[in-house]
Formats: sequence, C-alpha cells, structure tokens
Amino acid sequence: MVHDILIWPDPRLREVSAPVTEFDESLKTLIKDMFETMYAAKGVGLAAPQIGILKRVVVIDTSPQDEGARPLVLINPRITRKEGKRLWSEGCLSVPDEQEKVERAEKVAVTALDEEGREFSLEADGTLLALALQHELEHLEGGLFVDHLSSLKRGLIKRRMTRLKEAARRTANPKA
Ligand SMILES: [Zn+2]
Repeated sequence: MVHDILIWPDPRLREVSAPVTEFDESLKTLIKDMFETMYAAKGVGLAAPQIGILKRVVVIDTSPQDEGARPLVLINPRITRKEGKRLWSEGCLSVPDEQEKVERAEKVAVTALDEEGREFSLEADGTLLALALQHELEHLEGGLFVDHLSSLKRGLIKRRMTRLKEAARRTANPKA
C-alpha cells in the first residue's frame, strides 16, 4: 500500500523513532509498504517516520545510479564510522522539489539488522548510497537535511512547503 509522505514542517518528522523489537508479519508489511511508497514517489530512500510510523526502519534503493545496487532494508541501523567530507546535492521526499548542497561524510560504515533480525554491516564510499545512508538515518533522530542549511535558506524553504501544504488542503477540501 502506498502511504502519504509527511511534508516538513510536521511535528512527527521531529520525533526520535523507537527501535524495532518484533520481527513479525507487521514489520514485513511495513517494509513492503515503504518500498511501494518510495518507488511511487521516485525516491532512493525512505525512513518510516516519513509515513508517520515512528520506528527505526529505513529502505534504500540507489539503482540505477550506483552500479550493482540492490534494494536494502535497514532495521535499527547505526553509523559505526565516518570518514572524509564531501558536498552533496541533496533532496528529500518530505521536502519536495528542493535541492541544496549539504556537507556530509565521504565514506560511512553502517551496522543494522535485516527483516529477520540478523545483523549485517555495509560500507559506502563516495556513492549515492553513502549519502542516502546518512540522510535516512538522520530521519530516525528527528533530523532533516534542511537542518544543515542557513536559517535564511531554511526559512524560505519552510514558507514554500507551508504554501504547498495549504494548496494541497484546498484541493482536497474545495469548500474549506
Ligand atoms: Zn529525507
């Protein structure tokens, strides 16, 4: 099922998500829904809080930009190492149609659980995956890429998002 993606500013995007403790059917349904929602929105990553579910679940698919990339599920992920610096042009499904340069690490190592609860580790170096991992894990802490921008830029984007949400509400409720 494709879910609505929360648009910033929304208080749910500022919450710290809770660790997953049950690796059951409802988790598998959530993961399936997250992939469907991400692909429908043409994104390369999605964190559960972006659909209002405050759990530490992330899905990423950086194909075809990253050679050999495959769909990834990361439960309770954590960054174990960061190296180097790089300016990336970054966007977010919760901040539609905005792209800004953000400084991130060049290389990251992450440890996470898969959907069966098995631990795995991965590294990404200079690829879109390296950016997506840092971006999506930040969502689990209630962070967004706009937090890295100047307050002037963030304010401009916030006004555009607020207008976008008002326009969407009017379309949904023509009499309101
Ligand atoms: Zn995002």
